[in-house]
Amino acid sequence: MHHPWPDELLRVPHRRDVPFAKLTTLGVGGTCQWLFEPTDEKEAATFLRACHKEGLPYRVLGMGSNLVILGDVAIPVLRLRFPAELKRHGNLISAPASFGHIRLSQQAAEMGLSGMEYAAGIPGSVGGALRMNAGAYGAELIDVLDTFRFLTPEGELIEKKPTPGEFKYRWSFFAEVQAVATAMTVKLAEGDRDTIKAQVAVNMEKRGTSQPLSKRNAGCIFKNPTGASAGRLIDQAGLKGLRVGDAEVSPEHGNFLVNLGKASASDFAELMDTVRAKVKEVHGVDLEPEVEIWRNASPVAGSL
Ligand SMILES: Cc1cc2nc3c(=O)[nH]c(=O)nc-3n(C[C@H](O)[C@H](O)[C@H](O)COP(=O)(O)OP(=O)(O)OC[C@H]3O[C@@H](n4cnc5c(N)ncnc54)[C@H](O)[C@@H]3O)c2cc1C
Repeated sequence: MHHPWPDELLRVPHRRDVPFAKLTTLGVGGTCQWLFEPTDEKEAATFLRACHKEGLPYRVLGMGSNLVILGDVAIPVLRLRFPAELKRHGNLISAPASFGHIRLSQQAAEMGLSGMEYAAGIPGSVGGALRMNAGAYGAELIDVLDTFRFLTPEGELIEKKPTPGEFKYRWSFFAEVQAVATAMTVKLAEGDRDTIKAQVAVNMEKRGTSQPLSKRNAGCIFKNPTGASAGRLIDQAGLKGLRVGDAEVSPEHGNFLVNLGKASASDFAELMDTVRAKVKEVHGVDLEPEVEIWRNASPVAGSL
Protein backbone atom coordinates (compact mmCIF):
# COMPACT_ATOMS: atom_id res chain seq x y z
CA MET A 1 0.00 0.00 0.00
CA HIS A 2 1.27 3.46 -0.80
CA HIS A 3 1.76 5.67 2.20
CA PRO A 4 3.29 9.10 2.63
CA TRP A 5 5.63 8.43 5.57
CA PRO A 6 9.18 7.09 5.84
CA ASP A 7 9.60 3.44 6.94
CA GLU A 8 11.35 4.50 10.15
CA LEU A 9 8.20 6.35 11.25
CA LEU A 10 5.95 3.43 10.39
CA ARG A 11 7.93 1.19 12.75
CA VAL A 12 6.29 3.10 15.61
CA PRO A 13 2.95 1.48 16.60
CA HIS A 14 0.15 3.37 14.86
CA ARG A 15 -3.52 3.31 13.92
CA ARG A 16 -5.34 4.86 11.00
CA ASP A 17 -8.49 7.00 10.83
CA VAL A 18 -9.38 7.23 14.50
CA PRO A 19 -12.32 9.61 15.12
CA PHE A 20 -11.39 12.51 17.41
CA ALA A 21 -14.71 11.79 19.15
CA LYS A 22 -12.79 8.91 20.78
CA LEU A 23 -9.66 10.92 21.51
CA THR A 24 -11.02 14.08 23.11
CA THR A 25 -13.37 14.80 26.01
CA LEU A 26 -15.47 17.20 23.90
CA GLY A 27 -15.94 14.64 21.15
CA VAL A 28 -16.24 17.12 18.29
CA GLY A 29 -14.08 16.96 15.22
CA GLY A 30 -13.04 14.89 12.29
CA THR A 31 -10.64 12.01 11.99
CA CYS A 32 -7.10 11.56 13.17
CA GLN A 33 -5.75 9.98 10.02
CA TRP A 34 -2.40 8.87 11.51
CA LEU A 35 -2.23 8.22 15.24
CA PHE A 36 1.22 7.10 16.46
CA GLU A 37 1.20 5.46 19.89
CA PRO A 38 4.70 4.69 21.19
CA THR A 39 4.84 2.39 24.21
CA ASP A 40 8.17 3.68 25.56
CA GLU A 41 10.62 6.59 25.29
CA LYS A 42 12.66 4.79 22.64
CA GLU A 43 9.70 4.50 20.27
CA ALA A 44 8.72 8.10 20.98
CA ALA A 45 12.27 9.18 20.12
CA THR A 46 12.07 7.21 16.85
CA PHE A 47 8.89 9.12 15.98
CA LEU A 48 10.52 12.48 16.65
CA ARG A 49 13.78 11.65 14.85
CA ALA A 50 11.86 10.47 11.77
CA CYS A 51 9.71 13.63 11.70
CA HIS A 52 12.79 15.79 12.24
CA LYS A 53 14.76 14.09 9.47
CA GLU A 54 11.94 14.52 6.97
CA GLY A 55 10.94 17.99 8.18
CA LEU A 56 7.43 16.67 8.92
CA PRO A 57 5.09 18.70 11.13
CA TYR A 58 3.38 16.70 13.89
CA ARG A 59 1.02 17.23 16.81
CA VAL A 60 1.09 15.90 20.36
CA LEU A 61 -2.10 14.63 21.96
CA GLY A 62 -2.65 13.81 25.61
CA MET A 63 -6.13 12.87 26.81
CA GLY A 64 -7.69 15.59 24.67
CA SER A 65 -9.32 17.50 27.54
CA ASN A 66 -8.12 20.95 26.49
CA LEU A 67 -8.64 20.66 22.75
CA VAL A 68 -11.29 21.68 20.26
CA ILE A 69 -10.66 19.87 16.98
CA LEU A 70 -12.29 21.46 13.98
CA GLY A 71 -11.80 19.00 11.11
CA ASP A 72 -9.62 16.09 9.98
CA VAL A 73 -5.93 16.01 10.89
CA ALA A 74 -3.71 14.51 8.21
CA ILE A 75 -0.28 15.12 9.76
CA PRO A 76 1.14 12.56 12.24
CA VAL A 77 -0.32 12.80 15.74
CA LEU A 78 1.71 11.43 18.66
CA ARG A 79 -0.05 10.01 21.71
CA LEU A 80 2.07 8.26 24.34
CA ARG A 81 0.82 4.89 25.59
CA PHE A 82 3.42 4.05 28.18
CA PRO A 83 2.77 1.40 30.86
CA ALA A 84 0.69 3.01 33.63
CA GLU A 85 3.18 2.45 36.46
CA LEU A 86 4.11 4.76 39.32
CA LYS A 87 7.42 4.59 41.18
CA ARG A 88 7.77 5.81 44.74
CA HIS A 89 10.96 6.73 46.60
CA GLY A 90 10.09 8.24 49.96
CA ASN A 91 8.15 11.43 49.25
CA LEU A 92 8.87 11.34 45.53
CA ILE A 93 6.47 9.80 43.00
CA SER A 94 7.44 9.35 39.34
CA ALA A 95 4.73 8.99 36.70
CA PRO A 96 4.86 8.49 32.94
CA ALA A 97 3.41 11.36 30.89
CA SER A 98 0.52 9.20 29.70
CA PHE A 99 -0.63 8.59 33.31
CA GLY A 100 -3.92 10.25 34.32
CA HIS A 101 -3.56 13.46 36.35
CA ILE A 102 -6.64 12.69 38.48
CA ARG A 103 -5.47 9.12 38.99
CA LEU A 104 -2.10 10.39 40.19
CA SER A 105 -3.85 12.64 42.68
CA GLN A 106 -5.88 9.66 43.96
CA GLN A 107 -2.87 7.33 44.15
CA ALA A 108 -0.81 9.94 46.02
CA ALA A 109 -3.66 10.25 48.53
CA GLU A 110 -3.73 6.45 48.96
CA MET A 111 -0.01 6.60 49.73
CA GLY A 112 -0.63 9.26 52.39
CA LEU A 113 1.25 11.88 50.38
CA SER A 114 -0.05 15.44 50.19
CA GLY A 115 0.42 18.05 47.43
CA MET A 116 -1.54 16.61 44.49
CA GLU A 117 -5.02 17.29 45.95
CA TYR A 118 -5.45 20.28 43.60
CA ALA A 119 -5.46 17.87 40.64
CA ALA A 120 -8.61 16.04 41.73
CA GLY A 121 -11.07 17.12 39.07
CA ILE A 122 -8.56 18.29 36.42
CA PRO A 123 -8.85 15.69 33.65
CA GLY A 124 -6.06 14.88 31.25
CA SER A 125 -2.65 13.29 31.32
CA VAL A 126 0.49 14.14 33.26
CA GLY A 127 2.01 15.29 29.92
CA GLY A 128 -0.90 17.64 29.26
CA ALA A 129 -0.69 18.89 32.85
CA LEU A 130 3.02 19.67 32.37
CA ARG A 131 2.35 21.46 29.10
CA MET A 132 -0.45 23.53 30.67
CA ASN A 133 1.01 23.82 34.18
CA ALA A 134 -2.46 22.69 35.17
CA GLY A 135 -3.85 23.95 38.43
CA ALA A 136 -6.86 24.79 40.55
CA TYR A 137 -7.75 26.11 44.00
CA GLY A 138 -4.60 28.26 44.17
CA ALA A 139 -2.17 25.37 43.52
CA GLU A 140 -0.55 24.16 40.33
CA LEU A 141 1.76 21.47 39.06
CA ILE A 142 4.94 23.54 39.31
CA ASP A 143 4.41 23.77 43.10
CA VAL A 144 5.18 20.05 43.45
CA LEU A 145 7.31 19.37 40.37
CA ASP A 146 10.74 17.99 41.27
CA THR A 147 12.13 16.79 37.92
CA PHE A 148 10.73 16.07 34.49
CA ARG A 149 11.84 14.19 31.40
CA PHE A 150 11.21 15.18 27.82
CA LEU A 151 12.30 14.49 24.27
CA THR A 152 13.49 17.41 22.18
CA PRO A 153 12.06 17.75 18.65
CA GLU A 154 15.31 16.11 17.50
CA GLY A 155 14.59 13.06 19.68
CA GLU A 156 17.14 13.72 22.44
CA LEU A 157 16.05 12.65 25.95
CA ILE A 158 16.58 15.23 28.71
CA GLU A 159 15.88 14.97 32.44
CA LYS A 160 16.03 18.14 34.50
CA LYS A 161 14.70 20.18 37.37
CA PRO A 162 12.42 23.07 36.42
CA THR A 163 14.12 26.46 36.19
CA PRO A 164 12.46 29.89 36.63
CA GLY A 165 10.48 31.01 33.60
CA GLU A 166 9.82 27.50 32.26
CA PHE A 167 6.40 27.18 33.94
CA LYS A 168 3.97 30.06 34.37
CA TYR A 169 0.22 30.46 34.81
CA ARG A 170 -1.35 27.75 32.57
CA TRP A 171 1.74 27.91 30.35
CA SER A 172 5.05 26.12 30.02
CA PHE A 173 7.97 26.23 27.62
CA PHE A 174 6.42 23.16 25.90
CA ALA A 175 4.13 25.69 24.19
CA GLU A 176 7.10 27.15 22.35
CA VAL A 177 9.27 24.16 21.50
CA GLN A 178 7.61 21.07 20.17
CA ALA A 179 9.22 18.92 22.84
CA VAL A 180 7.36 15.92 24.23
CA ALA A 181 7.11 15.39 27.99
CA THR A 182 7.64 11.71 28.81
CA ALA A 183 7.63 11.58 32.63
CA MET A 184 7.78 13.62 35.80
CA THR A 185 8.63 13.25 39.47
CA VAL A 186 6.66 15.16 42.06
CA LYS A 187 7.86 15.93 45.57
CA LEU A 188 5.07 15.56 48.11
CA ALA A 189 4.73 15.82 51.86
CA GLU A 190 3.79 13.04 54.23
CA GLY A 191 0.39 13.58 55.79
CA ASP A 192 -2.64 11.86 57.18
CA ARG A 193 -4.03 9.49 54.55
CA ASP A 194 -7.68 9.97 55.50
CA THR A 195 -7.41 13.78 55.56
CA ILE A 196 -5.72 13.83 52.13
CA LYS A 197 -8.28 11.42 50.68
CA ALA A 198 -11.11 13.55 52.09
CA GLN A 199 -9.64 16.68 50.41
CA VAL A 200 -9.39 14.83 47.09
CA ALA A 201 -13.04 13.78 47.45
CA VAL A 202 -14.11 17.36 48.27
CA ASN A 203 -12.29 18.73 45.21
CA MET A 204 -13.87 16.09 42.95
CA GLU A 205 -17.28 16.83 44.44
CA LYS A 206 -16.94 20.61 43.89
CA ARG A 207 -16.54 20.01 40.15
CA GLY A 208 -19.63 17.87 39.95
CA THR A 209 -21.82 20.62 41.35
CA SER A 210 -20.44 23.66 39.49
CA GLN A 211 -19.75 22.20 36.04
CA PRO A 212 -21.98 20.33 33.57
CA LEU A 213 -19.91 17.17 33.68
CA SER A 214 -22.67 14.94 32.37
CA LYS A 215 -22.26 16.52 28.91
CA ARG A 216 -19.12 16.21 26.81
CA ASN A 217 -16.97 19.31 27.27
CA ALA A 218 -13.43 20.69 27.15
CA GLY A 219 -13.53 22.62 30.42
CA CYS A 220 -13.62 26.41 30.23
CA ILE A 221 -13.57 27.50 26.60
CA PHE A 222 -12.52 31.14 27.06
CA LYS A 223 -9.93 32.78 29.30
CA ASN A 224 -11.18 35.11 32.00
CA PRO A 225 -10.44 38.67 30.80
CA THR A 226 -8.52 40.77 33.35
CA GLY A 227 -10.78 41.46 36.31
CA ALA A 228 -13.83 39.67 34.84
CA SER A 229 -15.32 36.22 34.54
CA ALA A 230 -15.85 34.94 30.99
CA GLY A 231 -18.75 32.80 32.22
CA ARG A 232 -20.50 35.81 33.76
CA LEU A 233 -20.03 37.95 30.63
CA ILE A 234 -21.54 35.15 28.53
CA ASP A 235 -24.41 34.76 30.97
CA GLN A 236 -25.09 38.56 31.05
CA ALA A 237 -25.13 38.61 27.24
CA GLY A 238 -28.09 36.20 27.45
CA LEU A 239 -26.25 33.36 25.78
CA LYS A 240 -26.78 30.46 28.21
CA GLY A 241 -28.68 27.71 26.43
CA LEU A 242 -27.86 29.02 22.93
CA ARG A 243 -27.56 26.12 20.48
CA VAL A 244 -26.09 25.49 17.04
CA GLY A 245 -27.00 21.92 16.14
CA ASP A 246 -25.76 19.79 19.04
CA ALA A 247 -23.30 22.44 20.27
CA GLU A 248 -24.71 24.36 23.25
CA VAL A 249 -23.70 27.10 25.70
CA SER A 250 -24.32 25.17 28.91
CA PRO A 251 -27.36 26.47 30.82
CA GLU A 252 -25.41 25.64 34.03
CA HIS A 253 -22.07 27.34 33.29
CA GLY A 254 -21.71 30.00 30.58
CA ASN A 255 -18.04 29.26 29.90
CA PHE A 256 -18.74 25.59 29.17
CA LEU A 257 -19.67 25.01 25.54
CA VAL A 258 -20.87 21.42 25.44
CA ASN A 259 -21.52 18.71 22.91
CA LEU A 260 -25.03 17.32 23.37
CA GLY A 261 -24.15 14.27 21.29
CA LYS A 262 -23.41 14.77 17.62
CA ALA A 263 -22.03 18.34 17.38
CA SER A 264 -20.06 18.78 14.19
CA ALA A 265 -16.88 20.85 13.90
CA SER A 266 -18.78 23.55 12.02
CA ASP A 267 -21.59 23.67 14.65
CA PHE A 268 -18.98 24.15 17.31
CA ALA A 269 -17.00 26.77 15.38
CA GLU A 270 -20.20 28.71 14.68
CA LEU A 271 -21.24 28.63 18.35
CA MET A 272 -17.81 29.89 19.48
CA ASP A 273 -17.88 32.68 16.86
CA THR A 274 -21.40 33.72 17.89
CA VAL A 275 -20.51 33.84 21.60
CA ARG A 276 -17.43 35.95 20.90
CA ALA A 277 -19.31 38.36 18.60
CA LYS A 278 -22.20 38.80 21.05
CA VAL A 279 -19.92 39.35 24.09
CA LYS A 280 -18.00 41.91 22.05
CA GLU A 281 -21.24 43.67 21.07
CA VAL A 282 -22.72 43.70 24.60
CA HIS A 283 -19.60 44.22 26.75
CA GLY A 284 -16.98 45.44 24.26
CA VAL A 285 -14.70 42.59 25.40
CA ASP A 286 -12.75 40.24 23.11
CA LEU A 287 -12.82 36.73 24.55
CA GLU A 288 -9.69 34.69 23.96
CA PRO A 289 -9.93 30.90 23.76
CA GLU A 290 -8.52 29.02 26.75
CA VAL A 291 -8.64 25.75 24.84
CA GLU A 292 -6.25 24.92 22.03
CA ILE A 293 -7.91 24.79 18.65
CA TRP A 294 -6.77 22.42 15.91
CA ARG A 295 -8.19 23.44 12.57
CA ASN A 296 -7.57 20.79 9.94
CA ALA A 297 -3.90 19.88 9.94
CA SER A 298 -2.50 22.57 12.13
CA PRO A 299 -3.47 23.83 15.57
CA VAL A 300 -3.77 27.57 15.73
CA ALA A 301 -3.82 28.21 19.44
CA GLY A 302 -5.85 31.19 20.46
CA SER A 303 -7.13 32.12 17.02
CA LEU A 304 -10.58 31.74 15.59
C1 LIG B 1 -14.19 19.36 32.96
C2 LIG B 1 -12.83 19.99 32.79
C3 LIG B 1 -12.31 20.76 33.79
C4 LIG B 1 -11.02 21.32 33.68
N1 LIG B 1 -10.53 22.04 34.72
C5 LIG B 1 -9.26 22.51 34.65
C6 LIG B 1 -8.69 23.19 35.78
O1 LIG B 1 -9.29 23.39 36.82
N2 LIG B 1 -7.40 23.62 35.69
C7 LIG B 1 -6.66 23.42 34.55
O2 LIG B 1 -5.49 23.80 34.53
N3 LIG B 1 -7.19 22.80 33.45
C8 LIG B 1 -8.45 22.35 33.49
N4 LIG B 1 -8.99 21.71 32.39
C9 LIG B 1 -8.21 21.64 31.13
C10 LIG B 1 -7.39 20.35 30.97
O3 LIG B 1 -7.88 19.37 31.84
C11 LIG B 1 -5.92 20.58 31.25
O4 LIG B 1 -5.40 21.58 30.40
C12 LIG B 1 -5.09 19.29 31.06
O5 LIG B 1 -3.85 19.46 31.68
C13 LIG B 1 -4.88 18.89 29.60
O6 LIG B 1 -4.29 17.59 29.57
P1 LIG B 1 -4.54 16.60 28.33
O7 LIG B 1 -3.70 15.38 28.54
O8 LIG B 1 -5.99 16.32 28.14
O9 LIG B 1 -3.97 17.45 27.13
P2 LIG B 1 -4.57 17.65 25.65
O10 LIG B 1 -5.87 18.35 25.73
O11 LIG B 1 -4.54 16.35 24.92
O12 LIG B 1 -3.48 18.63 25.06
C14 LIG B 1 -3.34 19.94 25.59
C15 LIG B 1 -1.97 20.49 25.17
O13 LIG B 1 -0.95 19.72 25.80
C16 LIG B 1 -0.06 19.22 24.82
N5 LIG B 1 0.45 17.93 25.29
C17 LIG B 1 -0.27 16.83 25.67
N6 LIG B 1 0.56 15.84 26.06
C18 LIG B 1 1.82 16.33 25.93
C19 LIG B 1 3.12 15.80 26.18
N7 LIG B 1 3.30 14.53 26.64
N8 LIG B 1 4.21 16.58 25.94
C20 LIG B 1 4.06 17.84 25.48
N9 LIG B 1 2.86 18.40 25.22
C21 LIG B 1 1.75 17.65 25.45
C22 LIG B 1 -0.88 19.14 23.54
O14 LIG B 1 -0.05 19.18 22.39
C23 LIG B 1 -1.72 20.38 23.67
O15 LIG B 1 -0.93 21.50 23.31
C24 LIG B 1 -10.26 21.13 32.48
C25 LIG B 1 -10.80 20.36 31.44
C26 LIG B 1 -12.07 19.79 31.59
C27 LIG B 1 -12.61 18.94 30.46
